[in-house]
Amino acid sequence: MKLSLQKQQSAARTVNQRDMNLSMTDALRNENRQLRIQLDELLKQAHINERKLRRLQTQEMELLGLDSLADVLHTLTVDYPRAFDLAQVTLVLVDSDNQIQKLLEQLPAGMQQFQGVVLLPDVGALEEMFQDAPRPRLGSYHPAVHGPLFGHVEPPPVSVALLPLLRRGRFIGCLNMGGRYAERFAANKDTYFLERLATTVAVCVENAINHERLANLGLTDPLTEVNNRRFFDQRLEEEIMRTLRGKTPLACLLIDVDHFKRINDNYGHQTGDSVLRQVAAVLRQHLRGQDVLARYGGEEFVALLSAATLERAGVIAERIRMALEQCVFLEDDEKRLHITASIGVSVLQPQQHQGEIKQLAVELVERSDQALYKAKESGRNRVVVSA
Ligand code: GH3
Ligand code: MG
Ligand code: MG
Repeated sequence: MKLSLQKQQSAARTVNQRDMNLSMTDALRNENRQLRIQLDELLKQAHINERKLRRLQTQEMELLGLDSLADVLHTLTVDYPRAFDLAQVTLVLVDSDNQIQKLLEQLPAGMQQFQGVVLLPDVGALEEMFQDAPRPRLGSYHPAVHGPLFGHVEPPPVSVALLPLLRRGRFIGCLNMGGRYAERFAANKDTYFLERLATTVAVCVENAINHERLANLGLTDPLTEVNNRRFFDQRLEEEIMRTLRGKTPLACLLIDVDHFKRINDNYGHQTGDSVLRQVAAVLRQHLRGQDVLARYGGEEFVALLSAATLERAGVIAERIRMALEQCVFLEDDEKRLHITASIGVSVLQPQQHQGEIKQLAVELVERSDQALYKAKESGRNRVVVSA
């Protein structure tokens, strides 16, 4: 009886032990399964990250290969949304001395081709946005906060990533990415890739601006800071090609200060220089961003007005003439210095297809010059429009 009890107890122990072994095996198996799921998940993530990195590298290499500012801006704001499947990408740049604006205005299609580029007068807004930690800011899109950065693209982004762009520890701008769904730039997401992209973009944008500035130095008149004759000759042909492709005429205004020699003789060369700078400023005020203004030589300026009919060009020329006539160029106790100018206007119609581009360019300026000559001949301080 006793023995059988022992046997029973021993059998029960064996069963318990087996149960324990079984449940341990189950637990291990479970743990194993969990680990495998985790590992699969990590591997999946690693593959996703590898793909992301490769895509990022391709985009970075392309960006690094560009040296024209127009190409860099186009790549960031037009190509990147497509390449990264984003609702929108915009670029904010600090432009305290208006140099970037000037560079962009001088590009063939002018400033308006860069809808995704926003220029800031100082770094204040960026310092406020990123405060002490210039790291990417991720989260939901709020129209009141992010609207000014993204413009008014419909539908607006759902989530945003704002990447600060820094060079030598200073803000040069920020790159703003708008995602189509909330998860894309969720606030808790890792920002390694974005930080890396921001570093490359900052280098490329700064390089492109410097490159454009250098190229521009040879095309700017140092006295008046408007374009020089070399720039004008290049742009004239580009504008003529554009006119022939499109449907709108191109107007050319030659503006010559009347009796300028007397100003030098009576007031000195330095006052003469100052008058030329002020004339350039008045002309700039009366032209639009996409128009081309250049110092043609001495006291003569030239303006190309895109999409302006002969009538419209005549009206603008008259406004310029009046503005110059009314401007006080030097004022002291004894006298006020006024000047006048004569302006010759001619237009190239889009349907004038005959002739080489170079020939059309020469003819357009020549017709303006003949009109200017008539203006001088008939008494100065007037506008003559070429028939
Ligand atoms: P018109 O009404 O016929 O145009 O007479 P004008 O005196 O303006 O024309 P002219 O061609 O006889 O003289 C142009 C003067 O412009 C002569 C030249 O010394 C002066 N000039 C040219 N470039 C500069 C410059 O950069 N600075 C200064 N101060 N004078 C200049
Ligand atoms: Mg003159
Ligand atoms: Mg002259």
